[in-house]
Amino acid sequence: MNDAAKPDIFYPSEEVLNQANVNEYEEMYKYSVENREQFWAEQAETLNWFKKWDTVLDESNAPFYKWFDGGQINIVHNAVDRHLENANRNKMAIIWESEHGEVRNFSYNGLNREVCKFANVLRSMGVEKGDIVTIYMPQIPELVFAMLACAKIGAIHSVVYGGFSTEALASRIDDAHSRVLVTADGGWRRGKQIDLKSIANAAMERSPSIEVCICVKNNGLDVEMEPTRDFWLHDLFALPIASSKCETVPTDAEDPLFILYTSGTTGKPKGMLHTHGGYSVYTSTTHRMAFDIKPQDRWWCAADPGWITGHSYIVYGPLINGATIMLYEGAPNYPYPNRWWQIIENYGINILYTSPTAIRGLMRFGDRWPKKHDLSSLRLLGSVGEPINPEAWRWYHNVIGQDKCPIIDTWWQTETGGFMVCPLPITPLKPGSATKPFFGNELAVVDDDGEEVEVNEEGKLIIKNPWPGMARTIFKDDARYAELYWSQREDGSWRYLAGDSAKIDDDGYIWVIGRMDEVLKVSGYRLGTAEIESALVSHPKVSEAAAVGLPHELKGNAIHTYVILIDGVEPSKELMLELKTHVGNEMGKIATPEAVEFVEALPKTRSGKIMRRVLKARALGQDEGDLSTLEE
Ligand code: ATP
Ligand code: MG
Repeated sequence: MNDAAKPDIFYPSEEVLNQANVNEYEEMYKYSVENREQFWAEQAETLNWFKKWDTVLDESNAPFYKWFDGGQINIVHNAVDRHLENANRNKMAIIWESEHGEVRNFSYNGLNREVCKFANVLRSMGVEKGDIVTIYMPQIPELVFAMLACAKIGAIHSVVYGGFSTEALASRIDDAHSRVLVTADGGWRRGKQIDLKSIANAAMERSPSIEVCICVKNNGLDVEMEPTRDFWLHDLFALPIASSKCETVPTDAEDPLFILYTSGTTGKPKGMLHTHGGYSVYTSTTHRMAFDIKPQDRWWCAADPGWITGHSYIVYGPLINGATIMLYEGAPNYPYPNRWWQIIENYGINILYTSPTAIRGLMRFGDRWPKKHDLSSLRLLGSVGEPINPEAWRWYHNVIGQDKCPIIDTWWQTETGGFMVCPLPITPLKPGSATKPFFGNELAVVDDDGEEVEVNEEGKLIIKNPWPGMARTIFKDDARYAELYWSQREDGSWRYLAGDSAKIDDDGYIWVIGRMDEVLKVSGYRLGTAEIESALVSHPKVSEAAAVGLPHELKGNAIHTYVILIDGVEPSKELMLELKTHVGNEMGKIATPEAVEFVEALPKTRSGKIMRRVLKARALGQDEGDLSTLEE
């Protein structure tokens, strides 16, 4: 990297430094990796356990690690029950707003009541500890209640994005052999009603395992109910079985909590299994430290609960930490592109956590929309899902964060359960880098032979240690889990292969530059998709971009790019040439794209990630592969 291309560094303000929950990184990091078990045991002590663990980390069957084995806990005991005994009891747990403006609030006490009733209903339908309940819902409070109700009685939830197709839902129900499905009549998106129940009906026809379907009345759609199978939740809640008292079942620390599928960006989604103990410890610790959570905070993670980000940082981490969480069911730009900024102002949101794709999507409409609103309640901002390009980072920081909010860029995966690489609010920031490992974690970049590469060299990102939030396996496929993610070194140690390519710079900052399989080899040089896309998006007329490598006889790969222009800019041949030159200027001639194609939309997963494999398959006229997670 030449000097001019060196990233800016943003230092935290005095105010941020003075109030930080963790006010020093280096020494604590050193302690956490040298005394890993001790460090995690100390964090686990902050939670309520029915019975303390015998061992912090059991490595005897690596890579199938166990955390806090012998311990008994229930995540709901920590996310809900313990708050009822202190000042949090009457504190707001959930603020929910629907797209068309309906608002519902639940205190921790109110949340407990709903979760207990739901848990009793599930029990009355024969759900037992270890059963897998499939949940297919819009982003409404009942989705959270259903998840917590399952966990409370030791059942396992499998949440499927509301919006996935019949086929995707049916295959997940089959995979889990679910007897019970929880769904809703429908949801709202961009002023349109989404008819969830008919999709659920079609899925249930294909999946004979479902015996009971519990349906929440959300938007009042006229839906088909099968009388012996389908029940309205409000009818069940009116029965004596739905008592608002329900004991939380102690579960073993290693008992399964949920199955959740990866986003399907690089291939068929993998069903990851997470457990009660380690996951409780990991999500709450990372959330508290990275986002400096304070008792009075209003926290808004604007993801869908159907994505790991929603599980860990809408529901479990924040509730364990006793935060007030914001839920919004609807599109960010409906009816106007100021919807999110209005929500921040109306509810006094202190922390917003979202994805680069959402940021770029809103940035496209210009500054005037956020400028209409008082965003001064914001203290911190967060990003997750993809590398955030510096252009979007600066806009987020300057316009939304009013130059004062640090941006917590968190690198992690469905598999990791929680943040693996992220700054603390006190960390000096470089736009586009998720900065440094979270406590307890050691990461490195290696070449094809597994040797660590030099500083600033690109290679495969690996994690050298187990951590409490790690998935325990791929559901029903231990062998694949071990093979896909883990390798053993000659000295007996194990490494987790993340599947991303990355670099580590002179300051130890980690830069994720793309997916391992998507690194482009052009005339012997290796280029990350994130770098090329970021160069394109740094052009003032470009809103979004995707880069793929297509086979080329001489160069190995030729770079093909797809570009969405900002609102109001027309595509032209001149602009196409200008963009090619622009990338060449930003990154060096070698990176000049062979083709720039203007498009209206990019194929994305429901979690907002660009599916480059689909672009590539289309360009080559090949089979597009698993499209179950593709956003329409
Ligand atoms: P699949 O594994 O099915 O292909 P996926 O990897 O997109 O899908 P997720 O678990 O939702 O499924 O996403 C994890 C991936 O998202 C990471 O491996 C990484 O590529 C990307 N990612 C997440 N956060 C960041 C971040 N802050 N910076 C860069 N990349 C990120
Ligand atoms: Mg992945």
